[in-house]
Amino acid sequence: MNYLLPTHVHLDHCGACGTLARKYPNASVLVHPRGEPHLSDPTRLVKGAGELFGEQLMQRYGLPDPVENSRVRSVADDEAIDLGNGMTLRSIWTPGHASHHLSYILEGTGVLFTGDAVGLRHPTFPASMPTTPPPSFNLDKAVESLRRLSELTIKRLCTPHFGTLDGAGELFQRNISALIDWRSKLDSFISRGLSVDQMASELIEKVCEGIGRSVADVPQYVRVSIRVSVLGFVGYLKWKSE
Ligand SMILES: [Zn+2]
Repeated sequence: MNYLLPTHVHLDHCGACGTLARKYPNASVLVHPRGEPHLSDPTRLVKGAGELFGEQLMQRYGLPDPVENSRVRSVADDEAIDLGNGMTLRSIWTPGHASHHLSYILEGTGVLFTGDAVGLRHPTFPASMPTTPPPSFNLDKAVESLRRLSELTIKRLCTPHFGTLDGAGELFQRNISALIDWRSKLDSFISRGLSVDQMASELIEKVCEGIGRSVADVPQYVRVSIRVSVLGFVGYLKWKSE
């Protein structure tokens, strides 16, 4: 294997890089320049994730091994990465979900590796929703990245949360609409003085109303994701208003 290609340095995407780099000693780890320092020293990633998810979940995750500095290289925007056998992967910087986020398209195939730029679709819960975590979620950049992806000719999306999706061009616009909708809901929650937990509950209720499902059907994974997204989105709105 020549490359390990995490789309960004959240632990559910890059947490195994140190382990995999040991298993594949010839592989380079390619990452957005803003993510580069965190792979060789994951201290801040672990601290941030611990604050969000709590001690118990972090123990289940396990701690990431650092990647040797010499094995990590940053990826420019629109960089061609030769995979051999005539296959080329092209990088597309897609900040928004995180400042260090990028996606990849396999040239000539229309296969797009989205990373978290397109949010979350849980296999047992038919809503597609944004993922807007702290500390670097940025609404304007997320929308701009989705617009950029929507201009590509795409046949298949490979999404980490969860699975592949064919002919899903409208997913980008749906994501943009959901981000704008969440912004107006969160603005109203903030003006009503709701706590983060109250905001997450109301948002879960609204998501369920939108797809005609009961709140009891919402998987725990989705509940945690929505709460983390509320934290990130509210942090962004506060930063914007300062
Ligand atoms: Zn992420």
